[in-house]
Amino acid sequence: MKTENLDEDMLFNLRREEVLSEFHDPFIITGYRKPFLSFKNCVKSSVMFSCNESFNILSHFVSFVFFIFLFVLCFKSELDIKDVETWPLASNMLGNIGFTLMSTIAHTFNSLSVETRHKCFYLDYAAISIYAFCSGQATFFYASAFFSDNIFLNNSYLFHIVGALISITSTLLNCFSRMKWQSKKYIIRTLTYICAYIWNFLPYGYRLLTCTNRLDCDKSGLKLAILNSTLFLMAGILNVTKIPERFYPGKFDCCGQSHNLMHIFLSVGSYLQLQFIRIEMSRGFQSKKDYFYSLLATIFVINVNLLVAILFPTKYKSGNVVQPKKSK
Ligand SMILES: [Zn+2]
Repeated sequence: MKTENLDEDMLFNLRREEVLSEFHDPFIITGYRKPFLSFKNCVKSSVMFSCNESFNILSHFVSFVFFIFLFVLCFKSELDIKDVETWPLASNMLGNIGFTLMSTIAHTFNSLSVETRHKCFYLDYAAISIYAFCSGQATFFYASAFFSDNIFLNNSYLFHIVGALISITSTLLNCFSRMKWQSKKYIIRTLTYICAYIWNFLPYGYRLLTCTNRLDCDKSGLKLAILNSTLFLMAGILNVTKIPERFYPGKFDCCGQSHNLMHIFLSVGSYLQLQFIRIEMSRGFQSKKDYFYSLLATIFVINVNLLVAILFPTKYKSGNVVQPKKSK
């Protein structure tokens, strides 16, 4: 039994100085998996709670299952997916499912090799960018003003194009941040998603500020929107500041570190965003908006983002640590 624990520690609970610098996370001292871990051991590490990735894997896996459950529940009993007016919501929910699934995969398999680690997180960034675009679709179609003369915010195509550009640029910049701008990488990543969030929020914010009728002045979703924004903002702050592990290195390696908290805030925040959309949908649908293009635009953005992540190079500068042998 003792030998088994020792073996497990040598695979799933290494110290920072025992692994290549490419596998380091800021202020995390223990719980590193052995680099070049096998596929099977990567999966096994998800339930090894001495490992600093287990919480990240499980938190987004649980969220992934929960969002699938919500999707099935919604389109089996409440709404008809054949109805084009529900497509922005479907797009939003698929975005939730996609980013939690990709994050689970990225955190599970990033120890296979240095190249795989980069690829895993490229795909993770792409999935968040796709989610940002998808949730923007839902806000635009369901939460923007019924009565507004603003051509800019009434134009579905313009909103799609700018949203798609922000989404693809975010993935590109985030992938670049793994190769360059090392000291600013967390700020860059957070800022790209804040930018996407502000763009998505614009139609709703503008509606509330300029409304003149009962439908547009309806503030029943406002509390959820504020709560959701606050959680996303807190997730961003944690991602940049690395609190609490910055002040207590080694104390929160396996549970309670900033990335663990960020996963929780993102999951709860994106659930509240979904609830906000459901409230906004109860105002009714706008016949002047072209719902059909919502899904087409989503498919386009998914494909381009995934292509960027797949094709982006993974060249890296090797650390000064002796290359560990491959695990069996
Ligand atoms: Zn993560």
